[in-house]
Amino acid sequence: MLNVPRGAGDLLVDLPSRVLIIQFGNEHESRLNELLRQCYGEAGEFIWFDAGDDAVIELAVGTYDLAIFLDTELGNQGLASIHQASTVNTKIPLILITHAASPAFEAEIMENGTAECIALENLSPNVLRRIFRYAGTRKLAERTLRDSNDELIRGILQQREAKEDAEAQSRANAKLAADLAEAKADLEIALLSAKDSEQRFRRLAEHSPIGIWLQGPDDRTIFLNPTAAEILEITEHDDQMAATLENLVLPSERAHLKAPRAAWHNGEARELECTIVGAVSGEEKHLFVSGAPLSRNGDQDGSVLLSLMDISERKKSDAIIEHLAHHDSLTGLPNRTLFQDRLKQALALGQRTGKQIALLFLDLDHFKDINDTMGHPAGDQLLRTASERLLKCTRLTDTVARLGGDEFAIICTDLDDGGMVLTLAQRINEAIAEPFLIEGERIHISASIGISLYPNDADQAERLIKFADMALYHAKAEGRNCYHFFDIGMDEEVRRRKALEEDLRQAIRDEDFTLLYQPQLRLGDGHVYGAEALVRWIHPSRGMVPPNDFIPLAENTGLIHDIGHMVLRMACRQAREWMDAGHPPIRMAVNLSAVEFMANDLLPRVKGVLDETGLPARQLELEITESAVMADMDKAIAAMHDLRNIGVSLAIDDFGTGFSSLAYLKKFPVQALKIDRSFVQEILDNPEDAAIASAIISLGHSLDLDVIAEGVEDAEQAEHLRLAGCGNAQGYHFGRPAPAAEFFAKQAAE
Ligand code: C2E
Ligand code: CA
Ligand code: CA
Repeated sequence: MLNVPRGAGDLLVDLPSRVLIIQFGNEHESRLNELLRQCYGEAGEFIWFDAGDDAVIELAVGTYDLAIFLDTELGNQGLASIHQASTVNTKIPLILITHAASPAFEAEIMENGTAECIALENLSPNVLRRIFRYAGTRKLAERTLRDSNDELIRGILQQREAKEDAEAQSRANAKLAADLAEAKADLEIALLSAKDSEQRFRRLAEHSPIGIWLQGPDDRTIFLNPTAAEILEITEHDDQMAATLENLVLPSERAHLKAPRAAWHNGEARELECTIVGAVSGEEKHLFVSGAPLSRNGDQDGSVLLSLMDISERKKSDAIIEHLAHHDSLTGLPNRTLFQDRLKQALALGQRTGKQIALLFLDLDHFKDINDTMGHPAGDQLLRTASERLLKCTRLTDTVARLGGDEFAIICTDLDDGGMVLTLAQRINEAIAEPFLIEGERIHISASIGISLYPNDADQAERLIKFADMALYHAKAEGRNCYHFFDIGMDEEVRRRKALEEDLRQAIRDEDFTLLYQPQLRLGDGHVYGAEALVRWIHPSRGMVPPNDFIPLAENTGLIHDIGHMVLRMACRQAREWMDAGHPPIRMAVNLSAVEFMANDLLPRVKGVLDETGLPARQLELEITESAVMADMDKAIAAMHDLRNIGVSLAIDDFGTGFSSLAYLKKFPVQALKIDRSFVQEILDNPEDAAIASAIISLGHSLDLDVIAEGVEDAEQAEHLRLAGCGNAQGYHFGRPAPAAEFFAKQAAE
């Protein structure tokens, strides 16, 4: 039984796996077979041929990693075959194994220049393995390169996964480099022991996977192995002799050669990377060159041994990794990191040229809704198309970056005046307003743009970014689909917002809030069955602050949780007090922000307040807006069921303004829809609004939901709604939001 060493698998990696053996006699067949088995174990594929035309054809057309000529005798037939073999297949190494190689025969073979010649007597598994290794290393190198190429292409195609691919690739390249370094070390050992026979070195060099280039003191070529000739793309003998590194590298890199060259001639080893242009392919190649002085018999005569490696593939994968680190994988645009770099560069340039720079921040309006309703692949496609449009609007010298989500930034350098930016912003607004064709649907979307200018607004990157962001915020606040230049007033406003936030925190500590209650009644008989609690902030200097002035800020800062909790407790306590005072039971409607609705502790919070105040759950109704529900449908539905299970009612507020579809609505365990005030306002004059209102009413009927119209201001509106089938209403016509003490007093008076 063959004793395969541990780790033999690794060893085999180095060996040529398909070997053609051409034999001129069968005297040593079994001996070679035995040796091969000792080297390979069960692995390897050996195809035997008797010398002749068939063998030559096989060599020409078959795919082999190595060919062995066994038992050739010194004589014309053997030599001719080898010569023929070396011309029909130049790719694979040829090895001659002879019974007794005479020096004369060896000399002839070496003259021929293509084969390694070994005497069978000297052959042991180790020697064989070592000889094969050169061939094997070369094969491995080629295979790794081929794999690398495949991975590169795949990497480019699948940008998302490319980063990992490219990293794996770089590891593969590192392995390749290690293999090559090993092969090179072997060659150097061979070179040292080649004092006696330079031809032996030549033979090793022939099959080396690295380029070997021997240069004399005058830089002239003494020897160039086939790999080096292939890398440098010079095949003519005379051209090879005349070639120097200086002549081959890009002119721009010529100066870099000086120092290493001087070092080599000074007896020092030195490495460098350079770029040459292939004479045949015309392509730029990156080479890794390791140079070392050559000593003959201990003396240095100024000759240099250069080892060459074509590292273009590695450079490419390095470039891909570099690209991925600085670009957004979805759109290929520069990412935030690169954007910041570019901005700093632009500012440095601006300082020198004195030209203006504009920074545009851009955000797609309501992009989230598209993502939510059409799915992420559609959203991705929209972002890609949008980024293409942005690139079309800008100049090549501008930077268009994706900062994340639907946020983009554009850096425009070299501006003569701000007017150019204005035109650009308009162009962008128009380009984005063009319908997008996504999954066969025409999608309309718009963009909001904020702009800051260097040096007018600021001369530092951080401030320019902050100002462009503020300007964007204003563009959004002003109804979107527009652009806004930064102005100092905005800075002022941010300061105001900060002060307001501070005041709001204080108000929460002091509980400076009160609730007003607006009656909700049945249109049929005017029976008041509920009240909506509406919060007011009692500000020490500004008086009663309406919710629209502070709820958005509270939502943005997270203060809404404290405020909401306080409101819920006050409203429930009030409803309980009315009950205890003997009033007819009133269902208390409390508004919930999207942020509150999505909070994980919503259920325990509501339960806690009901327990604490003693209000029966059925007497509490929570109003949530469509948009709160649409943000995360699954979570919203789960939260609604939780609330339903403890007996709390749910109403969808501002219905008609969001994106709910009937399909979704059916899944919501809600009890009521509130027709948004905006449809009620012009219900008499605007047929469209009237149509929407009646559609909501019939939708409510078909789903067995209560419908309540809000913002009813006069009797005509109320009558119209009643006739249209709307069951309930709320509005100034029936009662303004009022303090608790007035709620029943007013109704008693009426
Ligand atoms: P909403 O939930 O749509 O509340 C109805 C708003 O319409 C209230 O404004 C109310 O005063 C007003 N209103 C009622 N009847 C009429 C009418 O006939 N005509 C007109 N023009 N308006 C009418 P308010 O109190 O200023 O509240 C504004 C918004 O602030 C509310 O809109 C609600 O979204 C929010 N809000 C109010 N209180 C709270 C609260 O405690 N928590 C949360 N998260 N939001 C609240
Ligand atoms: Ca409401
Ligand atoms: Ca409403």
